[in-house]
Amino acid sequence: WWDHVLLAPKDPITSVTEAFLSDQSPFKLNLGVGAYRDDKGKPVILECVRRAAEKISCCEILESTKATTKSKFVQDCVKLAYGNHSNVVGEGRFAGVPALSGTGACRLFAEFQKRFYPDSQMFLPMPTWSNHHDIWRDSQVCTRTYRYYDPNSKGLQFQALMNDIKNAPGRSFFLLHPCAHNPTGVDPNYEQWKEISHIFKIKNHFPFFDMAYQGIASGDLERDATAIRIFLEDGHLLGCAQSFSKSMGLYGHRVGCVSIVSRDEKQATAIKSQLQQIVRAMYSSSPVHGPLLVSTILNDADLKALWEEEVKFMVDRLIRMRITLRRTLEELNSSASWEHITKQVGMFYFSGLSPEEVHQLQRDFHIYMTIDGRIRVRRNGCKIGSLREYLPHLVSKQ
Ligand code: PMP
Repeated sequence: WWDHVLLAPKDPITSVTEAFLSDQSPFKLNLGVGAYRDDKGKPVILECVRRAAEKISCCEILESTKATTKSKFVQDCVKLAYGNHSNVVGEGRFAGVPALSGTGACRLFAEFQKRFYPDSQMFLPMPTWSNHHDIWRDSQVCTRTYRYYDPNSKGLQFQALMNDIKNAPGRSFFLLHPCAHNPTGVDPNYEQWKEISHIFKIKNHFPFFDMAYQGIASGDLERDATAIRIFLEDGHLLGCAQSFSKSMGLYGHRVGCVSIVSRDEKQATAIKSQLQQIVRAMYSSSPVHGPLLVSTILNDADLKALWEEEVKFMVDRLIRMRITLRRTLEELNSSASWEHITKQVGMFYFSGLSPEEVHQLQRDFHIYMTIDGRIRVRRNGCKIGSLREYLPHLVSKQ
């Protein structure tokens, strides 16, 4: 029956951990994992999540009617993304369903796009999270790319980005990272977002925001939603994927939401019914425990404040680690500029190392990262294993 099934190509991100685990060197170092870790390299359970879990009784989980929990959760998510006082929320002009985290949210949207715009394409930034390509491919939607990152300046290629948006056929779908772009850590600033929104209006493009890192760019949840708020203010209809993997550390619980802003409430009802139908045939419905945890935090003023504090703590720590890495490299008397390390935001440092250099690091120094040179910022990285040995080598190459 299955003789024709060949080994699937390795996933570029999960395969890094596999290679790391099979390395026997005591000096090995994994900079590939896309998850926040504490000083000991362990996953972090946020205190707000711990308290929310204590607050939710077992009966509540068992008794909660799925429909109520779900619609409450979606309402909470859209308020977080679109703003507490957003017209969209007030007028019920959105359709949303809980999703299996950010990945599931993207996948649901891709399926929805295929169903209602079967010949459309999705424009993805160059580069982007590798799974975006796979998600839209598996949903049978063709993908194209638009220019985003400039390897020379290690910043945004704004003019090229604007040209690609201008030159795309009108009414195209675009995926945008609203904050902490993965893998580059490079985001447009406020004025640039305004210009992007303006050109989207002219071209009548549809923006789909994949927000996997709300709070993780600036440490401020509201500020990280600026891009979405600008587009809403400009009257766009848009889609949004949300994830609580990073911002609440709920990686394994797979908690997320996909929502679509509609023209009116009637359209929202129709869109929601279609999203629900896609979910129904895929996995019927999502689990309730994760959404209950999130809603408990978002609706309790103390827990919400604690969450905001904890997010800020994580981001301040990431910034401190970036400063240390930059200083360490500068102290090696490099003439190259390392400013981009502290200019980039979020959990990753996009190093600009070539695939050959990444391979060499793995082979000769037991240091693991994704093939695009993305490094997860981690504490003591410079002191551990052979990275210390490697840094002078890196400096001399720049
Ligand atoms: N979108 C982007 C841009 C991401 O970086 C990630 C996580 N790496 C996701 C979506 C999905 O993550 P999750 O499914 O854990 O929410």
